[in-house]
Amino acid sequence: MAEDTEQQARRLRLKMALEDLQEMRGYGTELVTVIIPPDRQVHDARSLLQNEHGQAANIKSKSTRKNVQGAIESAISSLNRFKNAGERGIALFVGAVIVGNNKTRMVNVVIDDPPEPLQSFRYRCDSVFELRQLEEMLIDRNSYGLFVIDRSEAAYGIATGKRVHVQEHLVSNIMGKHRQGGQSAQRFERLIEEAAHKFFKRATEHASDYWLPNIQDIQAIIIGGPGATKDFVVKNEYFHHEIHKKIAATHFDVGYSNESGVRELVVNAGSLMGEIELDTERRLMNSFLKEVMQTYPKATYGEVMIRKALEQGAVSNLLISESLRKRMVDLHCNVCKIDWTVSLGRIDALPSCTKCSSDSTVSEVAERDLIDELTEMAIRSSAGVSFVSTDTEEGLQLYQGFGGLAAMLRYSIG
Ligand code: ZN
Repeated sequence: MAEDTEQQARRLRLKMALEDLQEMRGYGTELVTVIIPPDRQVHDARSLLQNEHGQAANIKSKSTRKNVQGAIESAISSLNRFKNAGERGIALFVGAVIVGNNKTRMVNVVIDDPPEPLQSFRYRCDSVFELRQLEEMLIDRNSYGLFVIDRSEAAYGIATGKRVHVQEHLVSNIMGKHRQGGQSAQRFERLIEEAAHKFFKRATEHASDYWLPNIQDIQAIIIGGPGATKDFVVKNEYFHHEIHKKIAATHFDVGYSNESGVRELVVNAGSLMGEIELDTERRLMNSFLKEVMQTYPKATYGEVMIRKALEQGAVSNLLISESLRKRMVDLHCNVCKIDWTVSLGRIDALPSCTKCSSDSTVSEVAERDLIDELTEMAIRSSAGVSFVSTDTEEGLQLYQGFGGLAAMLRYSIG
């Protein structure tokens, strides 16, 4: 569960970072992208940057030179935090980003915990950041188990994004059985049913064994076939109980129970596959809405109450709207020596000092993301975390009506 939550949080963090990074523009070629995959040495990247810093001394335009060198220095100092590139690598995006009316602001975004390993080393200076490798990590997120069966054959596999993989095609010997001389019709019938049972058991066990190791990535199991057998195996709970829980309620008619049947199933179930995830979100939100209406609700919402509930360990499942964007930034005025905190988008200009009103003396001391903070608190208290999109009415309600944060509680906290 915690593993799953962390992976979801990584994906969401990346999604939000990308939204900001995609918007960022620099003048000329002042934005620096450095991508270090896990098998590359951080110090190699650092020497390359040091070399590039030297080269940048030749840039004619004084402001470009200053910005490029500044970006490279910032990148090098970020890399100094790392001994190695870790399990999945490091991506660095540094540079003077245009923030409106001829102003720029130096940004330094480090992604050291991407959801998947970075693939290839990159160093690039451009007016935009190079994001392709990270963008690809967010595609093909949902897997579906696929299973087709009738009394003569069965096949199963998995669909991930647009890719369909058929793992195995099994053939029963039921249809080839013929009544032997002297065998009663009744006995023959029983032998046939025994053979059918064995075949259903073999096919569902093979499929269950294939899906179980990755069950947390599988959104749903989709069942199809030409006849009534598909409904029979589901109804009689042939599948492993963990798999059984994920079987989609609708089953699909397809022409065959072989490889082409599996592919046909993907086509027929296409719109269902899109809906399944949204259904999960709707269900989560509906049970929250129902609970929050009670006199002593085991549910709460809003940042203040959620924080309180998390601190008490009262949260059983935290619902976070994927549209929630809150980044808290600690600021410091170098002249007045005062500190304060604001909520700020990554490409907003820093505000001016609350005391002296100067905007050139303010610096960013630290930042933290609300979602990261709450997710970590949830994991510490073994609460589940569900990220809810705004693609459904209910999800929109979470974002607009409940400040993007809701929780189901273990007990009412009044
Ligand atoms: Zn000041």
